[in-house]
Amino acid sequence: MHNDEDKIPEQYKELLKKIEAIEKILGMSAIDKIVEDMETESEIVVSDEDLLITPRPEVTIKPKAYFKLAKHALTYANSNIPKREWVEIIGLLTGQMAKEGTPLEQVIVDDYWPVDQGDAISVEIVDQKVFTEIFHKKESTQFIIGWAHSHPSFTPFLSDDDFRTHLRYQTFWNKSIALVIDPLMISRDDYGLGVFRIDDDKQSYYKLSIEVEGLSTQASFESIDLFMKNEKEND
Ligand SMILES: [Zn+2]
Repeated sequence: MHNDEDKIPEQYKELLKKIEAIEKILGMSAIDKIVEDMETESEIVVSDEDLLITPRPEVTIKPKAYFKLAKHALTYANSNIPKREWVEIIGLLTGQMAKEGTPLEQVIVDDYWPVDQGDAISVEIVDQKVFTEIFHKKESTQFIIGWAHSHPSFTPFLSDDDFRTHLRYQTFWNKSIALVIDPLMISRDDYGLGVFRIDDDKQSYYKLSIEVEGLSTQASFESIDLFMKNEKEND
């Protein structure tokens, strides 16, 4: 067992330490042998600092990826064009995993690659050729971590077709994510996003917590709004 302890990432140890501190305050005993060796160094606690566990979303989306996706989705469905002309878009997501295999595990979405737009059926599947092309264009430290598509005005979720499509992505890589954007839902309080993954039983799916790194919904809305106004003027 001792060898396993060495493998625990630093930040995980940090988290355990904080949990231990909280347990002390709550009058509980140490949770696990793992924290035993830290016990000696932590005198009876505790500053507020020690109790801060920063919430970490399961998915961190880089602003570049978010803006590229929002732009693609909004170009084909926005309030300046008639609803009957709105179409869905699809693209691939590249990025990486952070702190894999720990409670702090995160999917980092570094980039979005527009692939296609059209009616719901035609955007379901990404051509193998495009897949390979993006695989070679992306940075070598990144890999294809999932796909994204839009639901203009019908909210982010996985339809039956989306579910089947995503099952293929997860067969390929179990931690693949399906990102759905409703461009009409983007507002000062909402990124208009949902990120999903299928459960192990392959019968249902769940929603992952997200952040757009360093960007409030307010700030991203202002930027997107400005972009849309410029687009309109250039028409
Ligand atoms: Zn869909």
